[in-house]
Amino acid sequence: MKAVRTIEELRSGIRALQINLGPEATVGLVPTMGYLHEGHASLIRRARKDNGIVVVSIFVNPIQFGPGEDYETYPRDEARDLALAEAEGADLVFLPSVETMYPQPTKTKIMVSDITTRLCGASRPGHFDGVTTVVSKLFNIVQPDKGYFGMKDVQQVAVLQQMVQDLNMNVEIVPCPIVREEDGLALSSRNVYLSEEERRQALVLSRSLREAAAAVSEGTAVTAGDIRNLLKRVISQSPLADIEYAEVVSFPGLQPYPDDEEISRKDEAVLMALAVRFGRTRLIDNRLFNPKEAN
Ligand code: AMP
Repeated sequence: MKAVRTIEELRSGIRALQINLGPEATVGLVPTMGYLHEGHASLIRRARKDNGIVVVSIFVNPIQFGPGEDYETYPRDEARDLALAEAEGADLVFLPSVETMYPQPTKTKIMVSDITTRLCGASRPGHFDGVTTVVSKLFNIVQPDKGYFGMKDVQQVAVLQQMVQDLNMNVEIVPCPIVREEDGLALSSRNVYLSEEERRQALVLSRSLREAAAAVSEGTAVTAGDIRNLLKRVISQSPLADIEYAEVVSFPGLQPYPDDEEISRKDEAVLMALAVRFGRTRLIDNRLFNPKEAN
C-alpha cells in the first residue's frame, strides 16, 4: 500500500497499477473523513472484492461543515487509519491537504437541488453542496469505476446517485449496509464524543427504528403519523435525547409521507430516518424497509 498526498502522485500510482494489472482492472474509490472504524473497513473490503485497484481517500472536508460545527475538533488519527486501510487491502490512500483540494480561489460548486433541502439538509444548509463538490473532485481525480458509500448516510447516497445520473458521471455509486455495534448503535467517528451515559442512551435510535418496523408488521402502526409518533415516543424515553427529526420518507426521492398516509400497505421501500442530539453530539440513523416484509 502507498500513502500519497498530491494529485500527481495519486494519478501516477493508479497508472502504475493499471499498467501492471491490465486494462480490465477496475478502480474502486472509498471516500472517507478518516478516524476509520469497522463501517469504513466494510466499504474497503467490498471495494477490494469488486475491483483490481482500491483507492481510499482520507480528507476532512472543510466545506461540508457549517459555522459552529465540529470541523476543528473532528477526530483524526492518521497512523491508525493507514494501518487499517492496509489491513483491509487498500492499494493507495490519498491524504490531500486543504490547499491541495481547494487551491484558492475556487469558483465552482456542485449543487443538487430539492432532496438536499430536507432531513439533514434542513439543519445543515450547504452541507450537501460541500459533499457533492468534494466527491465530484475526487471522482475527477481518481476516475473510479465505482464509489463506495455507507447507507448510514442514506441521504448522501440518494444525493450522490442523483448527481451521478444528472451529470452523466461514469461512476457507479455502490451503497453498503450500516455496520453497528453489537448493541445496535451505528458506528460513527463521532461516537467518541459521547459520554458514558450519552452512549448508553444513544441506543434509543436503533431501538426506535426496530420497534417502529415491528409495529408496522404487527399492524399497530399503520400511517406515517403513527410511525413518527412511535419513533418520537421511544426516543423521548431517553432524557438526554434532543430530537432534530424523526421522519418517514420515500426512498430515493426523500419525499415526506403525509401523516395520514397508510405506510403498512406500501409495496415500495420506505425510509425511517433520525437525527438526534446528545449534548454536543449529533447522531443519525435510519432504516430502509419494505412494509409488506417488515419484521
Ligand atoms: P465518514 O468518514 O463519516 O465521512 O464516512 C465515510 C463513509 O463511510 C461514508 O460513505 C459513510 O456512509 C460510511 N460509513 C460511516 N459509518 C458507517 C457505518 N456505521 N456503516 C457503514 N458505513 C459507514
